Amino acid sequence: MQTTTKNNILNGSQNIKEKIMAKKYVYQFSEGDATMRELLGGKGANLAEMTKIGLPVPQGFTISTEACTQYYEDGRQINESIKKEIMKNIEMLEKITGKKFGDKENPLLVSVRSGARASMPGMMDTILNLGLNDQVVDVLAKKSNNPRWAWDCYRRFIQMFSDVVMEVSKKDFEVLIDKMKEKKGVTFDVDLTAEDLKELANEFKAKYKKALGKDFPVDPKEQLFEAIKAVFRSWDNPRANVYRMDHDIPYSWGTAVNVQMMAFGNMGNDCGTGVAFTRNPATGEKGLMGEFLMNAQGEDVVAGVRTPMPISQMAEVLPDVYKQFQQVCKTLENHYRDMQDMEFTIEKGKLFMLQTRNGKRTAAAAIRIACDLIDEKMITEKEALLQIDAKTLDMLLHPTFDVADLKAADKKDVIGKGIAASPGAAAGEIVFTPEDAVRLGKAGKKVVLVRLETSPEDIEGMKFAQGILTVRGGQTSHAAVVARGMGTCCVSGCGDIKMHEEEKYFELGGKVFHEGDGLSLDGSTGNIYGRIIKTVPADPNSGYFGRIMKLADKYKALGVRTNADTPADAARAAELGAQGIGLTRTEHMFFGEGRIDKFRQMICAETKEEREVALNAIEPMQQADFEGLMEALKGMPVTIRFLDPPLHEFVPTEDRDIKELAKATNKTVEEIRLICDALHEANPMMGHRGCRLAVTYPEIAAMQTRAVIKAAINVQKRHKDWNVVPEIMIPLVGDIKELKFCKETVVKTADETIKAAKANLKYEVGTMIEIPRAALTADEIAKEAEFFCFGTNDLTQMTFGFSRDDAGKFLPSYYAAKIYESDPFARLDTTGVGKLMEMAVKLGHSTRKNIHCGICGEHGGDPSSIEFCHSIGLDYVSCSPFRVPIARLAAAQANIKNPRK
Ligand code: PEP
Ligand code: MG
Repeated sequence: MQTTTKNNILNGSQNIKEKIMAKKYVYQFSEGDATMRELLGGKGANLAEMTKIGLPVPQGFTISTEACTQYYEDGRQINESIKKEIMKNIEMLEKITGKKFGDKENPLLVSVRSGARASMPGMMDTILNLGLNDQVVDVLAKKSNNPRWAWDCYRRFIQMFSDVVMEVSKKDFEVLIDKMKEKKGVTFDVDLTAEDLKELANEFKAKYKKALGKDFPVDPKEQLFEAIKAVFRSWDNPRANVYRMDHDIPYSWGTAVNVQMMAFGNMGNDCGTGVAFTRNPATGEKGLMGEFLMNAQGEDVVAGVRTPMPISQMAEVLPDVYKQFQQVCKTLENHYRDMQDMEFTIEKGKLFMLQTRNGKRTAAAAIRIACDLIDEKMITEKEALLQIDAKTLDMLLHPTFDVADLKAADKKDVIGKGIAASPGAAAGEIVFTPEDAVRLGKAGKKVVLVRLETSPEDIEGMKFAQGILTVRGGQTSHAAVVARGMGTCCVSGCGDIKMHEEEKYFELGGKVFHEGDGLSLDGSTGNIYGRIIKTVPADPNSGYFGRIMKLADKYKALGVRTNADTPADAARAAELGAQGIGLTRTEHMFFGEGRIDKFRQMICAETKEEREVALNAIEPMQQADFEGLMEALKGMPVTIRFLDPPLHEFVPTEDRDIKELAKATNKTVEEIRLICDALHEANPMMGHRGCRLAVTYPEIAAMQTRAVIKAAINVQKRHKDWNVVPEIMIPLVGDIKELKFCKETVVKTADETIKAAKANLKYEVGTMIEIPRAALTADEIAKEAEFFCFGTNDLTQMTFGFSRDDAGKFLPSYYAAKIYESDPFARLDTTGVGKLMEMAVKLGHSTRKNIHCGICGEHGGDPSSIEFCHSIGLDYVSCSPFRVPIARLAAAQANIKNPRK
């Protein structure tokens, strides 16, 4: 018996072993295709696809994303069977190329590059020229008769390997290059000789040894496995983690690794390397756009170390290759039916494609490309809508320069010009470090970040900047690529700037600019202005944007409403296409001037009579606000939520305000202080708020009802053709009896008000579903509620049991521990909170067939949450005005992917 069990266990582990052994983790490019993205990553799948359609690709193989997952499962180790498989594929590559790893006659050099399922530009790491050591470099030098090239490759390899694999900073090596250039009196690295580069390579190795206490590895096999492990590790580096969170990329995906035979762009003047887009990624304009550097390798173009030449110039220097390249670009765009972003290398006049992918683009480019591809009959309307990243649309709503002020500035305030790298209008105070950008940006200041060049560590600062200006780098420099991804204005490569980064000032156009001085950038022209130019909001209803929004409305099933508290917000939202208001937080109306004092009087009332005096003073203000909201929405539904927050949020804290309140209420300062103290709660978010206020003080609900109903009657009178049906929403209900209690006051007051006005007005009374108990008993609650609106901010807080105000303090540890991959207050937790929602929708319909359901928590403007809301059959989502276009597109995408019957 025991033996059998033991045997079974042994057999079991044997089986698992065999399974691991049998599983394929490595694929030659010739074995894959574009459909294998999950396994091969984006880069690997596209290299395989390009191979398949006969384009010139240096051959190689992809180590799959599953190998990455296995690496982590094995405790950050590459297990023996995967190692064997990799080596088998190296042998195959040796056969294909006729070269041999570490060979003394015909050595094989490879690149090792990461490639996740979703492209993560600049987030992962690359190592080129792997396979070099002191002997191999000599072989290459002799064989090629080009020692300069051989040593250039070697010093690059040491530098990249040290940086990516061993984390010795790239900067340590750049300092040595700069010193060498100074010593030799040259400006560019291409002017360094073979001897200089050899000396540099030796200095690099010495640096490596000093930093790590051991020699640079000479065995190509060891180099290879260290490099592969580094790529796997890079999946978990802080930059990648931030990028994944920003782009909703799951950690579990892992990254693939591509090992590819090197093609050399640094062998002389019939060589080069470049990147190109089939359409302009900033504007969407059709036509090849990109940059090219002669006699250069990989990172040189994107790193912005030398300013590259426009791709069109390739036509002059290498006309035949250029023609072939144009043809390849056309083939790729037609094949993928989308704008392509490609990397290529030319080795001695021969073109090699190193990568192609659907290009990242600004929101402006995305909508234009989508429209153009429809017109060119390349894609359908639905495909076009799916092609646009909904999240980016708010970038189109960024302000533009005020035309008159820009004209004036054009005459006398242009101080310089750089490369128009990412469109937009930026105006703000100059800062020189990402840390300052974060600090001032968080304090609400508008800043422009000025840098020699940016690097991945600068991302956080770049997020907070209105615009980015760099001295070095072109269209594809780190600053340009990242800024475009963020929709931030960027002017790059303004070489005229005399930069004093450490001392925090620069000189341009004969002037000196210090930290805090005003600066404006035009990301569409590259102009730099020495002052702040006025900005104005953008127009959402014309051009490509208008067309895409119309198409979105054609295909969406969900309604899109807005959360708006003021008539101005409501009007802006209506312009952006909102089909109603899903949430008005009435308490927000009291922050305005001349209002808070009346509100405080109401809060500090000690009797019903005192409270009613204050409420009577408030009522006309509320009514006027509600009329403004209803006017702005032109007869579309307007949901008004009754008073919700804990009252102590409004009590005065300043002595002067306390004194004023005492005077206005005929109380002593001491009495006011005591009342305010009494309002404090240990756990206010779960305290005296929401419908509990209306239960304690029904007169507040009565006043708010009168204000809503009178406003609706007036607006209906003014616009006979509108159908004004106000929706009164009771917050934080957990029990049917609470809702019933509040509703009685509302209905009684509303009916009396309508009768007194001799009007004929319909209204609805509904509730927010934001307490788990309400979701669990939604069938009961629907007997009283004519509509549900999910308050997923509170519902998330109450379901998880942590405070939405305090979670920020500990959530970062949860992200670091991979317990959560995204902020549950930003992206709906569909597993838990979503389950409650889905249940509530079903239960609600079971007792009230025609109940309408929406969402008005922050998630109502988040595309992935919207997709979920669509799937559970909500009628609408409601979000802040600037997210309305995002929600319209996300709703259309949800319905295209999963059509409602
Ligand atoms: C919510 O809880 O989701 C909601 C919209 O209400 P508030 O954020 O005002 O609590
Ligand atoms: Mg709430």
